[in-house]
Amino acid sequence: MTAHIDASKFLDPRVAAFVSGRHAMLIGGQWLPAASGRTLDVLDPSSGKVIAAVPAGEGADVDLAVKAARKAFSGPWSSMVPAERAKLIWRLADLIEQHVDMLGPINSYECGKPIGDSRNGEVPFTAETFRYYAGWATKLNGESMTINAPGDWHAYTRREPVGVVGQIIPWNFPLAMLAWKVAPALATGCTIVLKPAEQTPIGALYFGKLVEEAGIPEGVVNIVTGFGEAAGAAMSGHPDIDKIAFTGSTEVGKMIARAATGNLKKVSLELGGKAPTIVLADADVEMAVAGASSAAFFNAGQSCGAGTRFFVHRKIYDKVMAGVAERAEKLRLGPGLDPSSELGPVVSQQQMERITRLICEGKSSGAEIVTGGGRAGDTGYFVKPTIISNTTRDMSVIREEIFGPVACAMPFDDEDLDALARDANDTEYGLAASIWTNNLGAAHRLAAKIKSGTVWINCHNFNDVTMPFGGFKQSGWGRELGAQALDLYTQTKTVAIRLP
Ligand code: NAP
Ligand code: MG
Repeated sequence: MTAHIDASKFLDPRVAAFVSGRHAMLIGGQWLPAASGRTLDVLDPSSGKVIAAVPAGEGADVDLAVKAARKAFSGPWSSMVPAERAKLIWRLADLIEQHVDMLGPINSYECGKPIGDSRNGEVPFTAETFRYYAGWATKLNGESMTINAPGDWHAYTRREPVGVVGQIIPWNFPLAMLAWKVAPALATGCTIVLKPAEQTPIGALYFGKLVEEAGIPEGVVNIVTGFGEAAGAAMSGHPDIDKIAFTGSTEVGKMIARAATGNLKKVSLELGGKAPTIVLADADVEMAVAGASSAAFFNAGQSCGAGTRFFVHRKIYDKVMAGVAERAEKLRLGPGLDPSSELGPVVSQQQMERITRLICEGKSSGAEIVTGGGRAGDTGYFVKPTIISNTTRDMSVIREEIFGPVACAMPFDDEDLDALARDANDTEYGLAASIWTNNLGAAHRLAAKIKSGTVWINCHNFNDVTMPFGGFKQSGWGRELGAQALDLYTQTKTVAIRLP
């Protein structure tokens, strides 16, 4: 387990030139600085060094972007036939694929994840998401109803785009989160003001270039970089934004929901999680070990679906723990851009401090560290993959979303599925869960008892563009991906006609 320091030596000169170049925001087809002239720094999380500066957009910039989006919504975008829109979105998907050599490294550089995960995972998934929703653009139909009232009637529904949408995204999957939001909004005919996370704006700005190249009319996609407290807050409270889609912390999700009450804009929220990874006695131990490790450590644990509470049957608990600890200790830490890195840094000093503070709180309240337990090295924001045992239900490591490579493990004794589900559901979150077993009956019974938006069986963190994803309880409102995401960006109009 070694922490390399200098990521820049793995940088292709074209990527380096783009990252360190002058950045501007895409508003109404123009590339603009912030009206205030202010910028914000972007860091390489593997070194803590500044790698770029982007405009720090604020209220005035959001206003401009909303005006551009409104103009495009009432202009070329809504009058374009769906098949044309579909072609443009498909072209954008092709461009994303063609630009993998830029998008992959930019993504790994700014958020720290292993390059293979960007290049072979996130970028292709981003392209696929656009392609999937390109197909939906031509399939958004209403229905006709058979009326009960006496007389002759014709009644039908229309599915209309909700209008100008504000999309606020996080840094953990900068490109995938962008795609999950932008693609269905484009397919339904909405126009967009996108605010990427302050830590990861560069990939989004590069995407803006591809939007132009694809020929999507100006003002349809506007990208405002900036801080959440300024640009994000201006969007959530904006009187001329019709809908906000947000992914991030539950705390900010609640602030957005409150800010949205002014014009009662529609809100969808994809928030935190504290997913249980449940390993039943009959599970294939090798598979469960690999699955639980990846559930906890994939993307350095910075995934809302991360498996952070292991419930393992006592019969196999020691074996599973030993297997996961062995894997954790072998993981090679390093900058995402180094192709030999298996685990990157976490995204920021703030996140690293939060994670290590939570680990310390666990220790001081009596939990035991099975492996890991703190920062790795003293350069960049690396955290050792960590497994914690001997926890109790009220500890902060059990209750809070840690968002780092950290999981807590608990043995259980019998297979009373109700008791197991009660423990697994003992969280304010309800985003995802996984169950590891070969017992079909137990798998389905338990899946029905788990209160979360997704239940994975013998897999974890498996997302497919066709499968709706979102939260029960405080993990959010609404579902992204699949056909359900189209509901977030359309509204139904009923038309009833009395036939003369
Ligand atoms: P966050 O603050 O919720 O960030 C998500 C997005 O919301 C960013 O674009 C952020 O802008 C923006 N934002 C922040 N404050 C805002 C406000 N008042 N109004 C409107 N938008 C606002 O998350 P974070 O601070 O980066 O991470 C904190 C914790 O959130 C993590 O430890 C993790 O538990 C959770 N998280 C969850 C997810 C997820 O996928 N569900 C993703 C990221 C983080 P800035 O970039 O300027 O902050
Ligand atoms: Mg923040």
